[in-house]
Formats: sequence, structure tokens, C-alpha cells
Amino acid sequence: RLDKVVGTSSVMVDFTKIDINKLPRVLIMGRPNVGKSALFNRLIRRREALVYNTPTDHVTRDIREGVAKLGNLRFKVLDSAGIEAEASSGSVLGRTAEMTGNVLSKTQFVILLVDARDGVLPMDLDVGKWLRKNAPGMKTIVVMNKAESLDDCDGSLGAAVGDAYNLGFGEPIALSAETGLGMAELHETLRPLLEEYVIQNNIRDDEIKENEENNSSEDMESKLPLQLAIVGRPNVGKSTLLNTILQEDRVLVGPEAGLTRDSIRAEFEYEGRTIYLVDTAGWLERTKQQEKGPASLSIMQSRKHLMRAHVVVLVLDAEEIAKARRSMKHVEVVIARRAVEEGRGLVVIVNKMDLLRGKENYKLYKSVIEAVPQEIQTVIPQVTGIPVVFVSALEAKSQIAVMNQVVETYEKWCLRLSTARLNRWLRKVMSRHSWKDQAAQPKIKYFTQVKARPPTFIAFMSGKTQLSDTDLRFLTRSLKEDFDLGGIPVRILQRTVE
Ligand code: GDP
Ligand code: GDP
Repeated sequence: RLDKVVGTSSVMVDFTKIDINKLPRVLIMGRPNVGKSALFNRLIRRREALVYNTPTDHVTRDIREGVAKLGNLRFKVLDSAGIEAEASSGSVLGRTAEMTGNVLSKTQFVILLVDARDGVLPMDLDVGKWLRKNAPGMKTIVVMNKAESLDDCDGSLGAAVGDAYNLGFGEPIALSAETGLGMAELHETLRPLLEEYVIQNNIRDDEIKENEENNSSEDMESKLPLQLAIVGRPNVGKSTLLNTILQEDRVLVGPEAGLTRDSIRAEFEYEGRTIYLVDTAGWLERTKQQEKGPASLSIMQSRKHLMRAHVVVLVLDAEEIAKARRSMKHVEVVIARRAVEEGRGLVVIVNKMDLLRGKENYKLYKSVIEAVPQEIQTVIPQVTGIPVVFVSALEAKSQIAVMNQVVETYEKWCLRLSTARLNRWLRKVMSRHSWKDQAAQPKIKYFTQVKARPPTFIAFMSGKTQLSDTDLRFLTRSLKEDFDLGGIPVRILQRTVE
């Protein structure tokens, strides 16, 4: 684990220059319904071939093969249906399992897919057993799918990952084939394996170059489609803003397209980037309902909707703010807090600024511009520098003002910092801070980013020392200031190493 953390220098193979037939092969295995097809589709970039929850005939489904593109990696990916037949019936090898066996002999790596929500079931253990028996020594990566529905913070993700160790194939990784979360971790795990295979088998690309700091996963993640939610109370101008943002690019998607059937309302391009508008209809109603009393179902539903968005745009009404003493109504505070708690990027839009123009309104105009950022900072103290954009949705130019901020926030949300860079930063930060006494200074061995979207870091603590809440706040604040992460919920976890 630590080797992975410390080692930053590597040889980079240019997979795009390798003959397709010589590419390494990766077989996706797992019991039915864990999301094999979904992962396969994501890897071969066939977004239109989305998987729905319709009963498919797993027994007769063929093994599909395609060329996977994962950042700068290229490999052959195979989606197995065969093993399912055996695992689900518990019977001896059927024709399809035999087929999987044949494929296995030509495969270099296996992704053993597990449903993170279900944890490891006996059937998963069966697949593992089958694999060990039929392909002893096969390099296997355990991947927990559907991880977008689990929470880093309440420990459910940690528990699922711990569970997956029991499969005995080493450290599992968590991702979501549906949302693309964690694809960078898959990239980071596969890259050294695939490179080693290419080099050992003398499969030459035109150039094998030395690369000290590999930023490929960083590039990849910020190029993934951006999922945007526009939320706010009725009449603040959400629809107007949306129409201005879409302009002629308006593409309405039918119920069969998009990421999931019910959650995507529109897909459009902004400066060459694909943006999905996440449907939040009814979301506010549920939030309101929830304010009145505990309704766990509605909390779950509103969380689910929000978790689909990468960036949440909260629209406020400037005219109402000018009239009232406070900028944000209770429900708006609830939305903003929830967005931040769920690790989403937050952008606040103050709309209808045109109504406050003109000399006679100057004081009001000024007070709105000053009050809103201050109040946001007060109600959400845990995230500093949440961007606030003042616009009139009736004007075409608001498209650029809003979308540029959305894209900027998204890119920060996807940011990946190399371990080398982070540790250089850490040394500086620790010396900058004056600890009450030298003994109180926490002993951090390494500091590394475990994931992006949102940026999450682990401090590896030496011996028994722990970071206090004050230390954590200090580190979080420094990270945000030094890497310009305003408005981004940054998380720091800690782990003890000997
Ligand atoms: P397979 O039988 O292993 O090929 O599984 P499928 O790819 O057909 O997926 C089974 C079900 O899980 C489908 O309803 C998918 O929409 C769903 N699914 C797949 N990946 C994810 C994911 O990352 N998150 C969630 N929430 N559902 C997923
Ligand atoms: P929604 O309920 O949040 O979707 O709000 P709408 O987009 O339907 O807008 C509600 C009302 O506010 C409509 O009458 C809009 O014309 C008006 N409106 C929206 N944006 C602006 C704006 O920037 N300036 C002014 N003056 N009116 C606006």
C-alpha cells in the first residue's frame, strides 16, 4: 500500500500505438446483476447501450468483447456471462461456463465485480472459488460496483471494502459503472499491471517514455460528462436560466436515453464538454416535506437525486433578497448544506439582478452583492469561498457567467494532486504553522489523495499519534487556500501506519 503511495515515477506506455490484437485482455466476471454489462459499456464508451433493470437471459447471453478506453489505457475487455450460469445454479460446469473457461485461458487479468450495496454474498465467494480453481494465479482485481450509493462518511463504503478483502484477491477498489465515480482508481490499479504486461511481453509501441508525474487520471476525470442540477424555490427563475443556458443547443432526451431512465432531463454541450442536466423535479417538495418532520423515505430520495449531480446550482431571487432582511430562506439553507454534506460542488446564482439596476436602487444593489456571500459563509462555515454569481437570466450573457463558474467548480471537484506534490506542500504547511509545543505537532508520514470527485485525502499517521479536529481544520483550510479549492467540499481521513 505504501509503495503505491510513495512511488510516483513510472514508465509510461503509449497504449494507443499498440496493435489492437496485441492488447492485454481483461475479463469481467461476477454473479448476475452486479453490473458487468454496465462496466463493460462504460469501458468501451457505448453510452447509448445503457443497461436497464430488465430481466435479461443471462444463461444464453454471449461473451462480448470490445476495446476499452480508460484514460490513456487501451485494453481488450470481455464481459462474461458464462460463469453466472454455474454460479447461480450451483451445478457443474455448463456449456457457458466452459466457454468462460476457454476465454480465461486467453485472458491476462480478471475484474471480479461485486455489488457494494449487497456486500460479498455466498455466490460471489463461489465465483472466486471457481476462478481460483480454473485459473490459478490469475491476477484478479476485486471491484465493488454501485459505490455511488454508499457513503464514505458513515462507514458503509469502508465496511463493504473490508468485506471484499474476504475474497482473498487483495485490495478491492470501489466504483460506480453507472456514474463513472472511481474510474480513476480503476485506471490507477490497472495501469502498472497492463504496462508490466506490455513490457514483459515485449509488445513494443513506438515510444515508451519516462514520465515522472502521471496526470492522466486527472485529465480523464474532468473530461467525464458533468452532471448538473439546478435547484431553488419556485419562481426564482430556474426555467428561465435553463433556457438561457441551453440556447440553441437544446437537446431534450427521451425516456430511453441518458444515464438512468428517470434522472436526466437534458443533455447538451458547452465548450466541447458534455453536460447532463439532472432532473430535480419534486426534489424541493420533498425537502420541504422533510423540514416538517422526519420522513426517512423523502430524505433518502432527495439524497439520491442530489448524489446524481456533480455540481449543484442554487438559484436565489435578488428582488426577494432586497426586500427581506436575510438572503436565504430556510429551505435554501437546507439545500445548500445538503449539497455540501453530500460532497457536491456548489455554485450560488443570484438571479433577477436587472430589477435592482438604476441609480435609485444603487444601495439595494450594493447591499445584495455584499450580503449574499457573507451570509452563505455564515450558514455553511465548513466550506469557504463558495462562488456566487449575480446575473439576469433574461440576458443571454448569463449563460457564460453561470456555465464558466459551473465548469470551473467541476474541474476543481475533479482535481487530482500527485503524492509528490502534496508531500512537498505538507512540509511547507507544517513549518508555516506554529504549534503550541513541538510535541503537539502531529506526525504525518505521508499525505495522499485517495480519490477525486470530491477531493479526498488520507493522512498516514506514524505510531499512535492522531490529528485533532483543530489539526484537520487547519490542514483542510490550507489545502483549500493553497490549491484554490473554494466552494469544494474537501475531505481528509487519517490512518495509522507502523
Ligand atoms: P450484469 O448482470 O452483471 O451484467 O449487470 P447489469 O450491468 O445488467 O446491471 C444490473 C443492474 O444494476 C442494472 O439495473 C443496472 O442499471 C444496475 N447498475 C449497474 N451499475 C450500477 C451502478 O454503478 N450503480 C447502481 N446504482 N446501479 C448499477
Ligand atoms: P422557476 O419557477 O424557478 O422555474 O422560475 P421561472 O423561470 O418560471 O421564472 C419565474 C418568473 O420570473 C417568470 O415570470 C420569469 O419571467 C421571471 N424571471 C426569471 N428570471 C428573471 C430575471 O433575470 N429578471 C427578471 N426581471 N425576471 C425574471
